[in-house]
Amino acid sequence: DVRVRFAPSPTGYLHLGGLRTALYNYLFARHSGGKFLLRIEDTDQTRLVPGATERLIEDLLWVGIEIDEGPGFGGTQGPYIQSQRRQLYSEAVERLLANGSAYRCFCTERRLELLRKEALRTRQVPRYDNKCRHLTREQLESLLAKGTPHCIRFKLTEHEEPLQDLIYGSVQHNVSETEGDPVIIKSDQFPTYHLANVVDDHLMGITHVLRGVEWQISTTKHLLLYKAFGWQPPQFGHLPLLVNADGTKLSKRQGDIGIEQFRSRGYFPTALLNYIISAGGGFEHRPNAKPELLPVAQLAQQFRLERVNPHPSRLNADLLNDYNQLEIRQRLQGAETQLQLIRHVQQLVKQTYPAHSNLDLGEAHILAVLQWAAQRLTLIQDLTNSKLSFLWVKPSNFVLKDLSTAQLEQLLLQLNALSDFHKDPLNATLKTYATSTGIKFPALMKELRGALSGLQEGPGVAEMMEILGKAVVLQRLGESIK
Ligand code: GLU
Repeated sequence: DVRVRFAPSPTGYLHLGGLRTALYNYLFARHSGGKFLLRIEDTDQTRLVPGATERLIEDLLWVGIEIDEGPGFGGTQGPYIQSQRRQLYSEAVERLLANGSAYRCFCTERRLELLRKEALRTRQVPRYDNKCRHLTREQLESLLAKGTPHCIRFKLTEHEEPLQDLIYGSVQHNVSETEGDPVIIKSDQFPTYHLANVVDDHLMGITHVLRGVEWQISTTKHLLLYKAFGWQPPQFGHLPLLVNADGTKLSKRQGDIGIEQFRSRGYFPTALLNYIISAGGGFEHRPNAKPELLPVAQLAQQFRLERVNPHPSRLNADLLNDYNQLEIRQRLQGAETQLQLIRHVQQLVKQTYPAHSNLDLGEAHILAVLQWAAQRLTLIQDLTNSKLSFLWVKPSNFVLKDLSTAQLEQLLLQLNALSDFHKDPLNATLKTYATSTGIKFPALMKELRGALSGLQEGPGVAEMMEILGKAVVLQRLGESIK
């Protein structure tokens, strides 16, 4: 049975790239009826950020990724936090020491530093020279007897393990040519990523490792580790880089921000997931298809690992807004989701204008506002931006210039008499009024728009009047007389 894992290090926020990795693992698990595990890789104690694990879990749950096994989620292969599994790594490394595929290294930080400097001076890539591979038994025993601090390194054999990457195909990379023997247990007794990752994937019964392509270079080492242990490795698939539409590195503007920030900006999880998917890979390619929002369950159904290709996944930043707009419109269709939106808006408006006691927060009014705004709204939050704040509060101190008090009073009477306060009859009334009084129509519109919204331009005046409703319109216009 398929078992996959998402194995983040709790060193900061979950970003779009990380979420993509989690999502693809999740879709693959759900598609094949397998399990999705969360494992926290916190062996680099110097880089830990307090609270990062909790936030990360919150982000995953928010987008709708369900964790089958993980810290706090049950499962029989725990603990799922690496710092709690040190005993297991010690046991594993004993096996490697015993069968001669690992050795203790006593080189001091100072010696390693000199090696690095020398490499730089001669313009070579710094690498450990594997000196301690060649310690004699006597040297080793005497160093150990003296309690000399040391780490444990893995012997990279010349032999290359071919990698059959599920996404990149066959990958050749002879690590021993370019790298020194990697540390697998540090002098503080903590394992490094390589050892802990391999031991855990094995013990947790992981069948497929799907991770970012930046880890591909490590995989060749991992395969050698599996071999040294005598274990069957999982299958590996590396996900291509997530980039901007123009192929450049993901920028902050285009989405290299914490998932938490998308949430607080008001993006909906489904919009975010479909945005990630839109970068390509894993789905049937339908050029020119209209953007379509699919819920996670349906994404899982349609996902095929064979359809992930090694081309960089390009994110079109505009799509996120399109998807969010689509999501708002879809939510307006369902009774329950519609009510949730209304509650959301009520809260938002209350928070935005705490000093106003007479805000119209009735459900019918908010629904009307939402339906009216749905075509242009990308975020619910936009409902209180400067262009739309007139929906909730009166513009400050607008003074009429071109209309006299008498003229305005006459108009108020006509508006008051209107039984149908919709756009079309309103427009007709305004036109007739302009002709009968001789005021130029554009000038009239400008005045009314100002009095109602404080805006120079924006939605049509009749449209505005309809959405504000008769009572508010009469009140705002009335107040602008003084
Ligand atoms: N801890 C690694 C990370 O932070 C995991 C890489 C992997 O999936 O093996 O991404």
